[in-house]
Amino acid sequence: MGGACTSQKKVEKEAGAAGPTIIVLFGPPGAGKGTVAPALIEKYGIPQLSTGDMLRAAVAAETEYGKAAKAKMESGALVDDSIVVGIIGERIMQPDCKPGYILDGFPRTVEQAKTLDEMLATKGQAIGSIVVLEVELSVLEERICGRWMHKASGRSFHTKFAPPKSLQDARAADPDVVPSADNMKDDETGEDLYQRADDTAEALTKRLEGYKSQTVPILEYYGESRQVKIDGGQPREQVIEAAKKIQLKS
Ligand code: AMP
Repeated sequence: MGGACTSQKKVEKEAGAAGPTIIVLFGPPGAGKGTVAPALIEKYGIPQLSTGDMLRAAVAAETEYGKAAKAKMESGALVDDSIVVGIIGERIMQPDCKPGYILDGFPRTVEQAKTLDEMLATKGQAIGSIVVLEVELSVLEERICGRWMHKASGRSFHTKFAPPKSLQDARAADPDVVPSADNMKDDETGEDLYQRADDTAEALTKRLEGYKSQTVPILEYYGESRQVKIDGGQPREQVIEAAKKIQLKS
């Protein structure tokens, strides 16, 4: 979850790496960014900064940013650069970002990538690696529409691919039970799970249009040499294993 503090117990430093470890997590909605992030947090001891999580928190708290972002987010459109750049610019100044951070959902346009590079250059820093989750776009609707989230931790579950224990229990009693707030509970805390307002087939169409036209060009901007690829089409556990084993670019 964006802003969460990270454990410093085991931090893997890349050989020869200088300065903070700055990783961009890249992939379409539903590619598994939320699945690999915990593995990278653990491996490098740095926080995950998710602009989507930060914006959803701003919407829930009804801040000025949140009010300006709400309708665009629900429809699947991108929020204005001035808002996201402001949010991320403040966040990377926090002390827990000193050793580095994982950017999730930012940058999302070449313009944002350029602004980020300028922001980092003033501190003598630069993006290290882009972790690219490669996945066929045709699988995303099923992934997104069955996804349920735990708000406090950012943990994600899926009615088919990763059902929480509560749904498994409900299905043991009645195989035809419909997933609902009553039987979708977080495995660790038992708290309610929820479905994101933009996790609908309709909003996904718009999110994917934005991804293809505005976000994919970022890869060319950063260049092949900084990309580390993970096959996001594999089953969840294999994606996590692949994330644990990645070698960052220095
Ligand atoms: P995500 O959780 O990354 O899928 O983001 C959810 C929504 O937040 C997106 O569909 C956008 O409306 C908004 N958002 C998140 N990050 C950005 C960004 N970098 N630029 C513009 N809008 C963003």
